[in-house]
Amino acid sequence: MKYDYLIVGSGLFGATFAYKARQAGKTCLVIDKRPQLGGNVYCEQVEGINVHQYGAHIFHTSNKEVWDFVNGIVEFNRYTNSPVANYKGQLYNLPFNMNTFNKLWGVKTPAEATAKIEEQKADAVAALNGREPSNLEEQALTLVGKDIFEKLIKEYTEKQWGRKCTELPAFIIRRLPVRLIFDNNYFNDKYQGIPIGGYNKLIEGLLDGVDTMVNTDFFDFKRSYNPSKGLWELETCDLQLETPEIVYCGPIDQYFDFCNGKLDWRTVRFETRIEDTPNYQGNAVVNYTSHDEPYTRVIEHKHFEMFGQEVYECPKTVVSEEYSTEYKEGMEPYYPVNNDRNNALADQYRQLAAKEPNVIFGGRLAEYRYYDMAPVIEKVLNLWK
Ligand SMILES: Cc1cc2nc3c(=O)[nH]c(=O)nc-3n(C[C@H](O)[C@H](O)[C@H](O)COP(=O)(O)OP(=O)(O)OC[C@H]3O[C@@H](n4cnc5c(N)ncnc54)[C@H](O)[C@@H]3O)c2cc1C
Repeated sequence: MKYDYLIVGSGLFGATFAYKARQAGKTCLVIDKRPQLGGNVYCEQVEGINVHQYGAHIFHTSNKEVWDFVNGIVEFNRYTNSPVANYKGQLYNLPFNMNTFNKLWGVKTPAEATAKIEEQKADAVAALNGREPSNLEEQALTLVGKDIFEKLIKEYTEKQWGRKCTELPAFIIRRLPVRLIFDNNYFNDKYQGIPIGGYNKLIEGLLDGVDTMVNTDFFDFKRSYNPSKGLWELETCDLQLETPEIVYCGPIDQYFDFCNGKLDWRTVRFETRIEDTPNYQGNAVVNYTSHDEPYTRVIEHKHFEMFGQEVYECPKTVVSEEYSTEYKEGMEPYYPVNNDRNNALADQYRQLAAKEPNVIFGGRLAEYRYYDMAPVIEKVLNLWK
């Protein structure tokens, strides 16, 4: 079989690439080693609810071209992310805004909130005695002061990274925006939402008319580049493929057989269960910001797509607890670990990738960079300009 592109990975990078290629009259085969298409945005239907199998995904962007593009495939709903933080049973609105400050200190005006924050920041700066902050804890204290840090940042960050804030580098937190208005909308972007009918609809639309194969691992193919034909030749015991170009969305270190060493990742373990109530926590996202609970967040999936009375028309609900975890072999690689070792190693692999003939390395795994969904789509759209 011969295709213009062999696309490894059916996540948003691979699927958007296939869509644009097909529009340009090219043939593509998309393979994925998972049993289903869609990469991390794949959702499983449980009790009539789309459950975000690989972590809650909220689409947000200020890029009109990207927004129009995805809405051209499937219409998006009006979901607005307004997470709530639970600290030892007390609930606070996020991101830090006037609602949060009112709950923390009883302040009612932006001037009162500013005075309180400035007073606490000054205490933190004074404690440094003229030194620069040397770790995340000191940095965060100088940016927002003790109360916000201790109740809403410290223990949550420690659960996320599996290390104490005093052991984490200061640069992880450069800015901690505080909003002096009563606005719980988490994102500053112009557009946000969830595809109506779920993310699978978006992936189905992108891959409509494209050949796909699931349960198919790229590394099960023997592959070689034939320079005289300008073709990649790939084969397994029952399949032979030829293509002038590969689009590779898997982990970059694995492509090169880990020849320089393995890149580190953080991952998340999900514990998902059905609750026999139509409305478990009243919000899609609740962050647990103390060590009292071992999980970082609880997601109630139905609130991404059901609003008002619809919530009660569906008698059950599905919730997922998220446990931030060190990555080990066999787990899903989720977040790159941006320390000196990994950055240097990723650069070595990027140099090898630049020399690989006719392979596009794209997406979060192949670039070893954290990308939200919209920038991934933007990248692909730009490749086709
Ligand atoms: C927990 C979590 C939550 C997130 N939440 C948000 C959010 O709220 N909003 C947002 O904008 N972004 C979010 N993101 C980011 C979003 O998931 C990425 O932007 C998006 O997944 C990037 O798409 P991709 O195609 O690069 O990667 P992926 O979706 O991971 O797709 C890569 C695909 O390649 C396949 N693959 C890998 N190796 C092989 C192989 N050897 N053979 C065949 N197939 C292979 C994988 O199975 C996978 O399907 C989140 C990410 C994570 C990890």
